[in-house]
Parts: sequence; C-alpha cells; structure tokens
Amino acid sequence: MIGEIVSIGTELLLGQITNTNARFLAQMLAELGIDAYFQQVVGDNRGRLEDAIRLALSRSDLVVTSGGLGPTEDDLTKEVVCEVLGVPLIEDRDLGRSIVQVLDRHGAPVFAAAVSKQSMVPEGATVLPNPVGTAPGLLVEASGRLVALLPGPPAEFESIARLHLLPALRDRLEAGGPVGVQGADGGEGADGGARHGRQYLFTRVVKLCAIGEPAVEDAVRDLIHSSNPTVAPLVAVGETHLRVTAKAADADQARDLVDRTVRVIEERLGEYIFGYDADSLAKAVGALLKAKGLSLAVAESLTGGLVGHLLTDVPGSSDYFDRDVVAYSNRAKTEVLGVSPETIARHGAVSEETAREMATGVRRMSGADVGVALTGIAGPGGGTPEKPVGLVYIAVARSVTGRETSGLDVSCHRVIFSGERWLVKRRAAHRALTLLWRLLQA
Ligand code: ATP
Ligand code: MG
Repeated sequence: MIGEIVSIGTELLLGQITNTNARFLAQMLAELGIDAYFQQVVGDNRGRLEDAIRLALSRSDLVVTSGGLGPTEDDLTKEVVCEVLGVPLIEDRDLGRSIVQVLDRHGAPVFAAAVSKQSMVPEGATVLPNPVGTAPGLLVEASGRLVALLPGPPAEFESIARLHLLPALRDRLEAGGPVGVQGADGGEGADGGARHGRQYLFTRVVKLCAIGEPAVEDAVRDLIHSSNPTVAPLVAVGETHLRVTAKAADADQARDLVDRTVRVIEERLGEYIFGYDADSLAKAVGALLKAKGLSLAVAESLTGGLVGHLLTDVPGSSDYFDRDVVAYSNRAKTEVLGVSPETIARHGAVSEETAREMATGVRRMSGADVGVALTGIAGPGGGTPEKPVGLVYIAVARSVTGRETSGLDVSCHRVIFSGERWLVKRRAAHRALTLLWRLLQA
C-alpha cells in the first residue's frame, strides 16, 4: 500500500506553523509498513486543492488529508474530496447532535449553519470520532482508494489518527487487500501481505541517558552500519535514543530481528538504558522510587516547576511525588525552604551551599525521603565571569541507612549548560532526573 498526506492550510505555505501532522502521519505509516513516496502541502484554495487531491489519488492507494474540516468558508476539504471521488455529501443527524453536545459541554455557542456544515459526511463514509474537538475524521472508500479526512489541530489530528485510523489501516493490511478495497482480490487475503510484496516493519526505540551521543555511537558503530535491522541514533534533550527497525516478510520475524539487536545494545550499554519506546526518564525515576517505597519532594528556582511538571506527566505519580516548591526569589528560598539568609548573602542564590540548603529544606518540611533542588542562571542576562549563564547547581538530599551509619546524605552537582534560556531550563530539569535515576539505582 502506498500512502500520501495532503496537508491543507495557507498558514503552512506561509511558514507560520510547522507541519507536525505530516511528520506524525509519516511516522505512523512507516510503523505500519505503508510506503510513503510523496507529501503535498496546499493552501485553502479550491482549484489547487482539487489538483492536489487528484494527483494524490492518481499515485497513492491511501490519501490522508489534514485540515480544512472546520465550519468556516475556507474549510473546503470535504466538498472537494467528494467532488473528485464522485461521492455525494449527505447529512448525518446523529453526528449533528453529537457536535451540539460537545459545543454545549465546552460552553461554546451553537451556530446552526456551522453545525449543519460539519454534520455533512460523504455517503458511505465511516465517522472517526474526535475525542478532543467537534469535527470528526472521515474514512471514505471509493474507486479502489481509501481517503481519510482529518481535522488540522494537532491534538485532534493525532488522537483520531492513533485511536481510529491506525486500527482501521492495520485491519486492512491484515486482511491483505492491496489497497483500501477490502477483499477485492477474493477470499485469498490471508497470506496476501507477502503476496503483494508487503514488508512488515517493526521498530523499537532504546532510550539512554547519562551518556553522550558520540559514546553511544562508538559502542554500536557496527550495528549502525548494518542494514536489517537498521540502527539510527537520535538525540533528545539529555538523552540519546537508538531506533532499531527491521523489515521482514512476516511480523514475528521482524520483531525477532529487532529483539536480537536490542539484546546486543543491552549487553553493551545496559547501565545507561532507562527505558524503551514511549518511556520517559521521569517514568523510570518514578518506577525506582515506587519500587523502593520512597517519596520525593522538589525545590526549584531556575526551572520554575519544570521538574515537577515532568514527574507529574507520569500517571500514578501521586504514589511517590509529594510536592514541588518553586522558590524563585531569595525571600521565598528563606521563607518557604528555610535557606539561611547568611548563606545567600555569603555565597549567592546560585551556589552549592544554597542548593544544598534548598534540598535539605524541602525534604525536612515535606517529610519526604528524597529532596531535590535546583538553582542556576538561565540567562540570557545575569552571568558573571565566576558565575556564567548556564551555571546550575543540583542538590539531592536523602536518608541513608547503612550498616554502621545512618543519616542524611547530601550531594551536589555543578554543571554549566549551553543554549538559550529555554534549553538551559530543560537541560537542568532533565539532569536532575538523570542524577536521581543514577542515585536510586545504587
Ligand atoms: P478548525 O475546525 O479548527 O478550523 P480544520 O480541520 O479546519 O479545523 P485548519 O483550519 O486547517 O483545520 O487548521 C486549524 C489549526 O490547526 C491551524 O490554525 C493550525 O494551528 C493547526 N494545523 C493545521 N494543519 C496543521 C498541520 N499540518 N500541522 C500542524 N498544525 C496544523
Ligand atoms: Mg479551519
């Protein structure tokens, strides 16, 4: 199956927004093993949109459109696609009612004309429900082609694609039809994947931290040079990912190839691997805290709550995450965390001493087992030769109960990050999680 995305919106052509929907869909198609040879971007213009749809249908079995499903004048996608496919638009009253319900729930005004425009669907189309907005996605089969129409807002595009389009495509691929027309080749679809030259693609992402990309690359250079599976390094803030992808004539074989390579990576770099696929470092930290029955409190200055945000993105974080105190001013550090004014006066708010007192302070006031604190200079202003922009102190306070000693262990990490303000903040927050992850494993 060949798939193509047609991204619709003049703001895309003007460079005002990034085409994240195309990227999202391209990844989804790759994971499904659907070849994508072309992508198109076209403005909200009837004639050019029609040309784009015709061209896509002439060369691709699956055409996914993004955008132009709204209620306004310049939302033309449905009309144009139906015209080109020769499928009439009919009113779906149930859909109309559910759109009104969504609008009511959001407290939004209901305009009858807008609702009736949005409740028109191509005859015979499958409605792909929109869990976050009003316009649903639509799946139409005609002339041996499968056309999916999805709304433009990324939250809507991605959830409909993931929840509804992905399973629909998977079903069709499993049924073995060459294109959208299910069973068109008579009931022999069962082994059709291979017969149509279908390649099954399987991907796993191995995620590493506390090691730089060059060192990762060096350790797996031979794997990076192999062709099936392919191993590709990707860099994220504070992390290196290895994407392992294999192609094979059946799904189990592809998975097997990937698993074997992942095991080799684990043997060589296991101590740096914090997770796989959609795992986050915050999730890995949470899992360690939970396994050890420890609770965590955070005190943040330069990161302004970012560490707490990352930790609470993980479902179930209330099991181990107690609180996050954003103590930005010196006064807040003293009043809320009990940092001594003398410490700040003598060493500065950005200092090892202040970071240590912030960590012990938040631990003491919360009664949590582990306290983490960050203080630093995010920039662009405020740097000095001794304390440059990007300087960050991260302190961790935790109780240790060894055989002979029991007490408080406070460690502090000093680092100078480069990058703009947002990047310094993100790198600092991520480094705090990395430190925690390493400490909790010991
Ligand atoms: P709406 O009902 O909001 O009008 P729509 O389906 O008509 O939805 P558009 O009007 O084309 O969609 O786009 C709505 C918004 O979604 C755009 O302003 C833009 O912010 C975002 N958007 C549209 N297309 C894309 C895209 N390809 N990638 C990322 N964002 C997009
Ligand atoms: Mg619109």
